[in-house]
Amino acid sequence: MDYIKSDIDEQLVDTYGTAVGIINPGQPYKVVIEAHADEISWFVNYISDDGYIYVIRNGGSDFQIAPSMRCNIYCENGNIVKGIFGWPAIHVREGKDPETKQENIFIDIGCSSRKEVEAMGVHVGAVAVFEADCMWLNEKYVVGRALDNRMGGYIIAEVVKKLKANKKKLPYTLYVVNSVQEEIGLRGAEMISRRLQPDVAICTDVTHDTTSPLYNKKKQGECKSGKGAVLTYGPAVQNNLLQLLIQTAKKKKINIQRSAVSRSTGTDTDSFAYSSHGVASALISLPLKYMHTTVEMVHEDDIQSCIDLMYETLLNIKSGQDFRYFS
Ligand SMILES: [Zn+2]
Repeated sequence: MDYIKSDIDEQLVDTYGTAVGIINPGQPYKVVIEAHADEISWFVNYISDDGYIYVIRNGGSDFQIAPSMRCNIYCENGNIVKGIFGWPAIHVREGKDPETKQENIFIDIGCSSRKEVEAMGVHVGAVAVFEADCMWLNEKYVVGRALDNRMGGYIIAEVVKKLKANKKKLPYTLYVVNSVQEEIGLRGAEMISRRLQPDVAICTDVTHDTTSPLYNKKKQGECKSGKGAVLTYGPAVQNNLLQLLIQTAKKKKINIQRSAVSRSTGTDTDSFAYSSHGVASALISLPLKYMHTTVEMVHEDDIQSCIDLMYETLLNIKSGQDFRYFS
């Protein structure tokens, strides 16, 4: 919100933390661009007598990648306690590797009793997040944790900056929405969609680059980093809005890829599409490698494709535009 403050007219924050920047408020026709703000993490669930901390997932966190990771535990009293996910040494596993499942995964904060852990402020319900810095790979890939979906937040913010820089006046109210709670079931978008009741919603999230090792293109389709924004076909996506995106991409020579889903998109697009009486919704996805690890990876050209496609599409939406298939 701070980043776009000078580029918007009004702002609102809802009870659960979803943040909305508003441009050209008060118009009868309302358009949303959206990305989710939340990040997967862990909840402290149990502290053993000898001072080890056991966790449960908050969203789709991955037990497989936890061993030997560093983390920060955010406590009610404001303390941020450093911890590590420990793991038994290779020397002592005797050919039988322990499973990376919930009951084997634990955090060590250097304490030897529950009392000592609690004295540092750690409690059941405290949130633990992996510690992992951002970096560039080969001067074209950004690597880091929670690029799912901080990159989306960056994309919608840059669209706002571009509108402002080019002095574009929109014939409708634009809501720039950064929703909470996508990772646990698209709940923040559900809440804010009911409040805003938009006519159109263009959401952005990440999608799997399926060309890195161990993916199955026959099952998951083909999507490759560096080849552009991904447009999804599926029941929740309104086809006339999708066509507007495709035609805009063609006209402006923006690279796109296509993907299909059987039912829901699994993104906030679903929450907007099925809110109130049905909202014309579409999804622009950013290809990403290694989702829900600490080395999520996106290509800078794809980020730009997403920004340009969203920006140009907004300029093509008219006030009162009727997306119905027939009337
Ligand atoms: Zn996610």
